[in-house]
Amino acid sequence: MEQDLQFNNTELNLLSKNETKLITKKSNQIKDTTHTPQTYWKECLKVIKDNIDSQAYNTWFEPLQPLSYIDNKFKIKLPSEWFREWLDTHYYDLINKTLKRVINNDVELIYDVVVIDSNGNEPTMVLYPAQRQPNVDNSDAFNKRLDQSKLKPMFTFDNFVAGDSNITAINAAKAVAKELNNTRFNPLVLFGGVGLGKTHLANAIGNYVFQNYPNQKVMYISSDTFTNDFIAQVTKKDNNITAFNDIYKNIDFLIVDDIQFFAGKKETQDKFFHIFNSLYLEGKKIVLTSDRPSSNLKSIDNRLASRFIAGLNVEIKTPDYKHRKDIINFKSRIEGIQLPEEIVDYIALNINTNIRAIEGVLLNLSFRTTYCSEKLTIELVNETISKIASEKQNITIEEIIDKVSNQYNIKAELIESKSRKQEIALARQIAMKLARKHTELSLKTIGEKFNRNHATVIHACLTIENLLDTDTKIKEQYEAIETLIKNR
Ligand code: ADP
Ligand code: MG
Repeated sequence: MEQDLQFNNTELNLLSKNETKLITKKSNQIKDTTHTPQTYWKECLKVIKDNIDSQAYNTWFEPLQPLSYIDNKFKIKLPSEWFREWLDTHYYDLINKTLKRVINNDVELIYDVVVIDSNGNEPTMVLYPAQRQPNVDNSDAFNKRLDQSKLKPMFTFDNFVAGDSNITAINAAKAVAKELNNTRFNPLVLFGGVGLGKTHLANAIGNYVFQNYPNQKVMYISSDTFTNDFIAQVTKKDNNITAFNDIYKNIDFLIVDDIQFFAGKKETQDKFFHIFNSLYLEGKKIVLTSDRPSSNLKSIDNRLASRFIAGLNVEIKTPDYKHRKDIINFKSRIEGIQLPEEIVDYIALNINTNIRAIEGVLLNLSFRTTYCSEKLTIELVNETISKIASEKQNITIEEIIDKVSNQYNIKAELIESKSRKQEIALARQIAMKLARKHTELSLKTIGEKFNRNHATVIHACLTIENLLDTDTKIKEQYEAIETLIKNR
């Protein structure tokens, strides 16, 4: 098909067949408009979309841009070096086979990578002939292994910007990832506030081990998912706890995110303690994250808490102004937007806690300037910042019931039922109080959700307010659920 294409750039004729240094810019002007790199790529994406799950598709294929198809070389632009590694490692076969099917058998895949670094250097382009990474298994077994690990592949050391606030945590994380035989830092507990990179860094450790030690069985799980899986297992009719235990039996490297949410869940903690202990005693590695130091964890069994405290506890602190600027510069390049210094300053000054919020602002700015052709002004930045700050979707009553159900280990149907059993009634009252506080629903609507009338909801709210003043255990449990609601 390539012979159908005509290029209007004479430079092209000067290229030898094996020339790997491809021409950029003008060279992809193709007269035959029925087959542009874009149309080929569109066809490829259709095939690819059918072959992988939608989350993987969004993460790995949406950011790609077809650049040119010249001399049997199909060039794609990628946002970064680590992106290239992942694509090569995991999707080389898929892309290659698809291109061959859609275009022809001789097509060669070339990546054009925008290399950025966190030191404020300008982006440069680097070309790579795509290649299956040596020593990497691309088989079904490999993909299954990746799938089972539940790791988030986009979080790596490469794209984690270092600064004073997190350098200690990064060093600890790298030591744990690289020195597999060193069990001195076991478990590693990364702690710090919301949106500061705990989940990212914990996954970076996992991804490093996953890629560099193919024999290690790595698994990432949030404490919330662990709890849900466990409850689902024990409440099943054919309760088969062995199946649950088996998941964890052969793990070499376990990463558990947000352990503070284990608070107050006694049975889940018992289960986790046994899993933790057997892995720990076998010298298997464990990485945990938490929103507070282990010594401050509330309503966590002493046996567990003392294991956590005995590990290496490292804090990820809030980034200072300079670090925030570095992060903004780094992320804006990934987003493909050029920010003048004063706008970088402005964002760094106005968002001073949460890196997730910085990402949200940059994504919005990129959208508004690229897709809506708006001018990048301080007013636009300001508007975006205030929108992000107030953008949280309202929580639904179903989500509240789900969180209460999870905390108290009581099925949602029971919370909504007529049961007067004391523990169920308490969970129901807490759900009513939280729904009243965190949704806009009327007393009547809340009542209906629980098959009760509005007076019952008022009574529930008063009862819980009273208990919050007098019963510290209930207060802790209530606050744990409320934190979940706020951080979701
Ligand atoms: P936490 O788990 O602490 O709430 P996350 O790890 O989810 O926070 O981080 C929130 C977002 O901010 C993620 O998208 C993550 O990639 C990004 N992020 C956090 N810290 C950094 C950093 N130092 N460099 C680059 N990105 C970061
Ligand atoms: Mg997190």
